[in-house]
Amino acid sequence: MSTLIHSGLVVSATGSLQADVLVEGESVAALAQPGSAPAESWKASAETVIDASGKYVIPGGIDVHTHMQLPFGGTFASDTFETGTVAAAWGGTTTIVDFAVQSKGQSLLAGIDAWHAKADGGCAIDYGFHAIVSDVNEATLKEMDAAVGAGITSFKMFMAYPGVFYSTDGDIFLAMQRAKANGAVIMMHAENGIAIDRLVAQALAEGHGDPVYHGLTRPPELEGEATSRAIQLAKVSGSPLYIVHLSASQALEAVAEARDGGQNVFAETCPQYLYLALDDLAKPGFEGAKYVASPPLRPREHSEQLWRGLRTNDLAVVSTDHCPFCFKDQKELGRGDFSKIPNGIPGVEHRMDLIFQGVAAGRISRERWVEICSTSPARMFGLYGRKGVIAPGADADLVVYDPAAKQTISAETHHMNVDYSAYEGMEITGRVDTVLSRGSVVIRGGAFHGKPGHGRFLPRALSQYLL
Ligand SMILES: [Zn+2]
Repeated sequence: MSTLIHSGLVVSATGSLQADVLVEGESVAALAQPGSAPAESWKASAETVIDASGKYVIPGGIDVHTHMQLPFGGTFASDTFETGTVAAAWGGTTTIVDFAVQSKGQSLLAGIDAWHAKADGGCAIDYGFHAIVSDVNEATLKEMDAAVGAGITSFKMFMAYPGVFYSTDGDIFLAMQRAKANGAVIMMHAENGIAIDRLVAQALAEGHGDPVYHGLTRPPELEGEATSRAIQLAKVSGSPLYIVHLSASQALEAVAEARDGGQNVFAETCPQYLYLALDDLAKPGFEGAKYVASPPLRPREHSEQLWRGLRTNDLAVVSTDHCPFCFKDQKELGRGDFSKIPNGIPGVEHRMDLIFQGVAAGRISRERWVEICSTSPARMFGLYGRKGVIAPGADADLVVYDPAAKQTISAETHHMNVDYSAYEGMEITGRVDTVLSRGSVVIRGGAFHGKPGHGRFLPRALSQYLL
């Protein structure tokens, strides 16, 4: 089966060129200049020709931070692997990396097995897993090696959520030493959860139950402090460190300083920290609950710094932290007590479009857009070569993107299984036209043509940023 993507502008992390892309089976077979002899012969022989004139052809988006069906606060994230990966495909994302959870008292590998059971056979696009480590002991440390052998080469830990996912500095340090030994990356949710819990208790005792207090009780300094602490622990243990969902300028400064010092410290941010702010949490009534996530949305000035970090590569990746909870019945669990609002914002469908607004506004180049949304996530988590690049032999995960199309984000039209959009009414320049996952058309002509179960589990190599 062969498909030709004809006459598009192929945009990669390193540059853009006019090229025809030939897909054979599940892989990219070759690229050639439009009108050249090989391109003309492909045009005559390809079974399907997709016209990409006036459009970009980019490697499919890679969202390395999603939480499908995550149990949280007595409920579950509302997207299943099926609905979430279909929504991702609509938005030009062809790979997700989700987080398999080790619960306290449970084995790490049992948590990974449970995630396979949830995801296998349901995904419309390819997927991998990180593992959340929340119970550090001798057995868990050994299991980390086994997980690496099974292609789960990154482990997330929490300095937040005492009593749930929280690890002590000592536990974090032991896991980091193990990662140093087996080559894995430690991913950190860096907020000082111990101090935050005190602030939360004080706010509630003073009768402050509104959603805005979720933001006010998690000040940016406590993200900066935890980020610095994680960096020092990583330095002493010799482990690489990846800060997830970085939201505060204080944390960005700590990451930049560590990177300038030559340490293997990396960070991602998410669209919500670039486009939304503390004001959204303060919306009247219970509206603010729609914007409750951790770390919380910050005062506006932080987002300017995050855009700067994306330009300077102190922020290497944009992921979503997609963790949807419906407003009705789920977010509503926290009416009158913000600490009971399930944490998370839906976003897996709109990351490519939202970050493209940075291109449209002249904040970043289109090549940088591809880099932070596809190529760097692939390299960071051991998928590059197969994913994140359009080159012979790579998986044919391709997106034809129309940079001039207009659309308006709305819960009425999105495909995520959640009853609101955090970006309701936002007007977007640019839109996904066609999506291929391993050579199969998934989105085309405004319709979904994929199927749940097409997506395969991706055992990942070690990070390709490390020597
Ligand atoms: Zn997360």
